[in-house]
Amino acid sequence: MVVRMRHNRSQVRQDRSHQALKERTLSVCSHCKALHLPHHMCLSCGWYNGRQVMDLEAEKAKRDRRLKEKRERIGVETGAEHQPAPVPAVETKDEKQPKEKARKARGAAAKRLKDESLSQSEIGSN
Ligand SMILES: [Zn+2]
Repeated sequence: MVVRMRHNRSQVRQDRSHQALKERTLSVCSHCKALHLPHHMCLSCGWYNGRQVMDLEAEKAKRDRRLKEKRERIGVETGAEHQPAPVPAVETKDEKQPKEKARKARGAAAKRLKDESLSQSEIGSN
């Protein structure tokens, strides 16, 4: 940062003194007395400025019907194409053991090599 742009502590704190979030102001609905955003339709009854501007129950029914139709459509489509996935073969212990054995054998071999190299270096140093 260029020194010319540097803010001192006081400037930073003055700036931050205005960054606090303010509580939302809410209005009381004249129809159902619920809280709603000022200059917005009441979301619990659909009234604004003393009259009903949206029939929320009808909208909800419409939405439910649409979603139900969509669900049925998807269900039909997947029902026709969907085949039950083949059950993945469960790995039994018999299948697992050779791998495990091989790993153990490799570990043992590595350890043996390490020991041998250690003993050789000991021999070399002596
Ligand atoms: Zn209301």
